[in-house]
Amino acid sequence: MKRKVPGKSAGGRKSAATAPKARRSVAPASNKHSTDVFEQMAVHRHEQVSYWYDPASGYRGIIAIHNTALGPALGGTRFWHYVSDAEALYDVLRLARGMTYKAAVAGLNLGGGKSVIIGDPSIDKGVRERVFREHGRHVESLGGRYITAEDVNTSPRDMEWISEETKRVVGLAGRSGDPSPVTAWGTFRAAQACARFLWNDDAVGGKTVAVQGVGHVGYYLCKLFHEHGARLVVSDMSKEKVQRVVSEFGARPVEPDAIYGVEADIFAPCALGAVINDDTIRALRVAVVCGAANNQLAAEKHGDELERRGIVYGPDYVTNAGGLINVNAEIEGWSLEQSHTKAGEIYDTVLRVLEIARDEGIPSYRAADRLAEERVAKAEKARGLPHRI
Ligand code: NAD
Repeated sequence: MKRKVPGKSAGGRKSAATAPKARRSVAPASNKHSTDVFEQMAVHRHEQVSYWYDPASGYRGIIAIHNTALGPALGGTRFWHYVSDAEALYDVLRLARGMTYKAAVAGLNLGGGKSVIIGDPSIDKGVRERVFREHGRHVESLGGRYITAEDVNTSPRDMEWISEETKRVVGLAGRSGDPSPVTAWGTFRAAQACARFLWNDDAVGGKTVAVQGVGHVGYYLCKLFHEHGARLVVSDMSKEKVQRVVSEFGARPVEPDAIYGVEADIFAPCALGAVINDDTIRALRVAVVCGAANNQLAAEKHGDELERRGIVYGPDYVTNAGGLINVNAEIEGWSLEQSHTKAGEIYDTVLRVLEIARDEGIPSYRAADRLAEERVAKAEKARGLPHRI
């Protein structure tokens, strides 16, 4: 079952990374995770898990590498108040696996990995630098098998500290820059693919698009839909952000909770995870769900339900891969134009995913997994590696 991406921890007292504090769980309290590392690794055949501890700074980090058949494992560093080490392990394994699928389906020569730092993300600057430098040493110890980047509760400044200790880090200030325009472009191309699949026409002119969240990605996505003649209905918690797209693109604003019931052709979630859930799915009056938010389905059953209701779903990790493509440019030495071209290929991938889903009678999120697994399996075979995926 998919779960919500954790939000920001409640800040407060500045302390060492490991200082005890009221911790918010990323899972229901009743959800006990196994502490048996190999048992958990076996479930999805992870390659490697590395633990690192530094008593001086309080750094406690875990790096999980799911699969490196396609290339070095890339995935961000998440700083989070986990309730237990077992919960942190569960989260890092889940996230690392997700990165294998995202990179594979995006056609990148990257594997899947992720790292977590266990502790209070609001630690003061001095301790924070020591923690991230220690994390950099941890990353470096893996000799290039893992490359890190920003994630929840980490920033470009943290990446700079990591880069003092290792070159295996992307997303540094002054490099690939804000990924949002590339992510929005990939999501827009994904929406065009959904339109082609459903209406046999890429054109979104005259279509109504409901966009939830007009922050970094949502703003650029609105711009693209507007430039292509679509009508926009938008929601955001920020009145200023809503006002901006109302005045620049003539969008119609609705209250945050009203966005689910808007009658539209396309619903584009660009804010939170788990927005397709038991409560919202019944309200949807759209033909397509295609947005940039991560983990849009609260659970896999909601992907099945979209399928049952005849709503075309562009699987989130396929549609929002522009962010990963953008940082991959730092590794490949791509120009912004090359990143845009690569993100534009999301169109072909989404179309392929939807065709597999239709031909095999499976939901699109499963078809996306299948496509990713085929690519990894091919690489495993070509490289003479054991079959893991
Ligand atoms: P952002 O924080 O800039 O924008 C999110 C917006 O959603 C904010 O303006 C916020 O006010 C709004 N919001 C929060 N709760 C809301 C609600 N209940 N209803 C309506 N609006 C609400 O974030 P972003 O960088 O634009 O990313 C948006 C989503 O896309 C996230 O899920 C992110 O993980 C995902 N994503 C982003 C990128 C990227 O390149 N930035 C890449 C891949 C995936």
